[in-house]
Amino acid sequence: MSQFGPDYVRAIAPYQAGKPIAEVAREFGLDEAKIVKLASNENPFGIPESSRAAMAQAAADLGRYPDANGFELKAALSARYDVPADWITLGNGSNDILEIAAHAFVQKGESVVYAQYSFAVYALATQGVGGRAIVVPAKDYGHDLDAMAAAIEPDTRMVYLANPNNPTGTFIPAAEIEAFLQKVPSNVVVVLDEAYNEYLAPEHQFESSQWVRKYPNLIVSRTFSKAYGLAGLRVGFAIAQPAVTDLMNRIRQPFNVNSLAQAAAVAALNDKDFLEKGAQNNAEGYKQLTAAFDELGLEYVPSFGNFVLVKVGMDDQAGARVNLALLKQGVIVRPVGNYGLPQWLRISIGLPEENAAFIAALRKVLG
Ligand SMILES: *Cc1c(COP(=O)(O)O)cnc(C)c1O
Repeated sequence: MSQFGPDYVRAIAPYQAGKPIAEVAREFGLDEAKIVKLASNENPFGIPESSRAAMAQAAADLGRYPDANGFELKAALSARYDVPADWITLGNGSNDILEIAAHAFVQKGESVVYAQYSFAVYALATQGVGGRAIVVPAKDYGHDLDAMAAAIEPDTRMVYLANPNNPTGTFIPAAEIEAFLQKVPSNVVVVLDEAYNEYLAPEHQFESSQWVRKYPNLIVSRTFSKAYGLAGLRVGFAIAQPAVTDLMNRIRQPFNVNSLAQAAAVAALNDKDFLEKGAQNNAEGYKQLTAAFDELGLEYVPSFGNFVLVKVGMDDQAGARVNLALLKQGVIVRPVGNYGLPQWLRISIGLPEENAAFIAALRKVLG
């Protein structure tokens, strides 16, 4: 063990990312072109054409630093979400937002509340500032908001909520979140992480950005990585009242979002067709995958995101075993043993033919 750094940094378990296609090709001697990756909740359509064009234009100016204030992107977001531009913080992915919030609002030894089986980065961000995690047991694989409100202690500075949650796909209806916000002490910051918001069906959509007007302690976090197809560029943003936003912007690196990412995000934000195409493919792919799970008699958690958590066996090696067998067939999915779900795999929803390739491989593996 290294003698460097504080104990709480040495205690951090590194984030386990989805395996890149090239790595799986090398490891298993497979043809890259034939590998299907359904492991990182990426958009199966890739980057929108509109973003590609905007980036080509922005490329001419790459010798200069990016706009540190992200003027155009903030203006576009401000118009889209009906909030003033100085209520917005840009992040290098929304991952950056989650970390900036921890740095801005939590000191070493103070506590942060989040749910069991919620996004891995909440633990990392908490540990990164020496915070104390209060992990509240999940209810039906989702957030137990009553228990989370009750778990808040006098030294609690922040709560992370994922809605929909990753890796389980669970969703908390608007009324329940509002009831929770009313219970949380006003000095505790609530980070409402809505990375999959754009995939929600219209009847589940609500304008959480407008709750920010009512709750000075609320941060709404969104990303361009999933529905907008810009995962490789790293752009996310937060909406919060100026007092909170001001502190986050002091912590934020001045040039945390690069010029290409800013240009691509503005274009994507206005590309309604791309979002619609993605949402439709996602809804159809969800049916395709869950119909196969039903047929195979596999339990899954009903999902509101662009992925499904499925139970592939009863023993604690099942996830790892099935994952390895799928890899050998050129299908990359996500084992979630690190989340305490060793019997499960998380499958990102892909194009119809990618889903079909996964289903065929799964049938073979499960015999
Ligand atoms: C993917 C994801 C994010 C962050 O993605 P970025 O690429 O960093 O924007 C945040 N929260 C949840 C729950 C996610 O699944």
